[in-house]
Amino acid sequence: MAITNTQALDQLADTIRSDRACQVLASQATQLVMGAGNAQADVVIIGEAPGKKEDEQGVPFVGASGKSLDSMLASINLSRDDVYITNIVKYRPLDNRDPTKAEKEIFWPYLLQQLAIIRPKLVITLGRHSMNYFLPGAVIGDIHGQVVDVTVDGVNYQLMPLYHPAAAMYNGSLRATLLDDFQAVAGLIRP
Ligand code: URA
Repeated sequence: MAITNTQALDQLADTIRSDRACQVLASQATQLVMGAGNAQADVVIIGEAPGKKEDEQGVPFVGASGKSLDSMLASINLSRDDVYITNIVKYRPLDNRDPTKAEKEIFWPYLLQQLAIIRPKLVITLGRHSMNYFLPGAVIGDIHGQVVDVTVDGVNYQLMPLYHPAAAMYNGSLRATLLDDFQAVAGLIRP
């Protein structure tokens, strides 16, 4: 019998643990933060790495930037249950520092496996860390809110790079830009 996407994602989480991926971060973290939401979603949203709250709860985007993301989703009548949310790096870097290139490289193949399981119509990257893995050298200020067709490991994705909701928390004009870009997301998923 075929397994469900949720079961496949659980198996992938077990693989990450048994591979002892990124042991330095794993040994400092409370737990792996694999992802949350709807495993059959048309939209997958990819952030950077778990923060303190995410590490405690094992769920991505539950801290302050999560509230900002929730309000963006609500602005287009979506809830967290309508999308699948994850991060490129799945253990918390201490002191909320940026994930390193080496840490992102370790998790990149697992992220691609997550996408292969869910097969979303649209992949949204939040901030430059996840965007640059799909689009090396791209500048977020130039391409945010635009749909880009990308092929990774022979698989085609529709990608939309967006600003990170944390950046929009203290910057009103970025918040307005992000809200506008979410309208573009709504246009894509509800043509
Ligand atoms: N929380 C997450 O889970 N990811 C981010 O990128 C930021 C906060």
